[in-house]
Amino acid sequence: MLKPGQLVTVSVHSLTDKGDGIATLEGRPLYIEGILPGERAEVRLTLVKPNYCHGQAVQLLQAAAARCQDFCPYTACGGCQLRVMSNSAQLELKRQLLLEALQAQGLDCPVAQTLGMDEPYHYRNKAQYAVQPGPYIGFYAKHSHQLVEVDECRVQAPETTEVVRLIRSWMRQCAVPAYNEALHVGCVRHIMVRNGVNSGEVMVVLVVAEMPAEAALEQLVAQLGPVPGLASLILNLNTATGNRVLGPDNRLLWGKDSIDDSLDGLAFSISPLSFYQVNPRQTEVLYREALRQASLQGHEVVFDLYCGIGTIALFMSRKAHRVIGIELVPEAIADARANAALNAISNVEFHQGAAELRVPELYAEGVRADVVVVDPPRKGCDPALLETLARMRPERLVYVSCNPKTLARDLAWLTDHGFVLEQATPVDMFPHTMHVETVALLTRRADEK
Ligand code: SAH
Repeated sequence: MLKPGQLVTVSVHSLTDKGDGIATLEGRPLYIEGILPGERAEVRLTLVKPNYCHGQAVQLLQAAAARCQDFCPYTACGGCQLRVMSNSAQLELKRQLLLEALQAQGLDCPVAQTLGMDEPYHYRNKAQYAVQPGPYIGFYAKHSHQLVEVDECRVQAPETTEVVRLIRSWMRQCAVPAYNEALHVGCVRHIMVRNGVNSGEVMVVLVVAEMPAEAALEQLVAQLGPVPGLASLILNLNTATGNRVLGPDNRLLWGKDSIDDSLDGLAFSISPLSFYQVNPRQTEVLYREALRQASLQGHEVVFDLYCGIGTIALFMSRKAHRVIGIELVPEAIADARANAALNAISNVEFHQGAAELRVPELYAEGVRADVVVVDPPRKGCDPALLETLARMRPERLVYVSCNPKTLARDLAWLTDHGFVLEQATPVDMFPHTMHVETVALLTRRADEK
């Protein structure tokens, strides 16, 4: 009988979706943090259930070739799950995750090497630090709201560290209290920092539950002044309870209310609430791959479905005749239109609405796409959308996905309904995490042309 506290020696054979090692112990899965496939470890059982167990590694007995030095001193932080796995092994793992998802649906196509980063650090352009009484500033531990104090985070932009240090000392000097989640009292809840990687501009958003004194705010402006590239300092008021980071009201404390950035020569304006891809260097890689697979000649009508702020649509517009973007969130559509205007691009139009409703409507009106790009949320495409695409029969369908499982499910349906799966390319947008982004190409089956 297995008991908590017991020591066992096991071999890890695979990883969970959260990056924990899985071994098999007396027929049930044993989950162990920080142990990689191919490794043997002595493990202390911490939880024993009839169907699964949890354990903590006490000693690593045999290390995998994939193991590398942990690059981060904050072991309790839940941000990066693959930090003891080398970059090349992470890229191969992500390719395998995609291959397994495709195989599980009986799909077979060439799967490229994962397009990764040579230097997978400081890649994020958006940091969101939680603040708790102390003041402690950092990120949550895995599966919890337990704060892990983090001074310097290796995946954030370097300016972020300085911003956090300056705000910590400002809170102490001006006696501005952190927000207490349990009691719903206090002031500072979160610090958000956004960076325009190509513009060098920095936006700082201080999220508060109540207004700090005016004198303290003046002091904050003075204290953050030396941050290189600081272009925008915003106070965001969030008085609600719950997990939502930003409230609806922004007050500009200093500078301008948005920052600029560019992707592959296209300009974008970023405001505190607007969605923008988090790894801009890899976003260029992802969109270029989508553009390559679309192989536009210049005469095509392109649909960009689930278009967000229109980034893919604007990328495609330079090589297409006409692009139609569709997106559910009205604010994102407003940003998409503003971004088109900012770049003086006139062959794109944006429609607000659910793709599964708007595409059938457009189809009924006689609008047809030669090339369709979809980039849905994790749950994948709605069946009503897939059915319309099967009837519309575009020449090419480029599927951008953040979830290999729903991607494979939808690809399997599409290959049963008139399309051929040609190729898939994994892209590493979030190094050191289990996330994998994919760009997959379907073409219209020849006998259906
Ligand atoms: N292509 C964009 C955004 C992709 S994220 C980019 O690369 O930046 C997925 C988007 O789908 C989000 O913007 C979300 O608001 C939108 N969305 C979610 N459900 C939708 C639906 N049913 N119809 C249209 N858009 C939807």
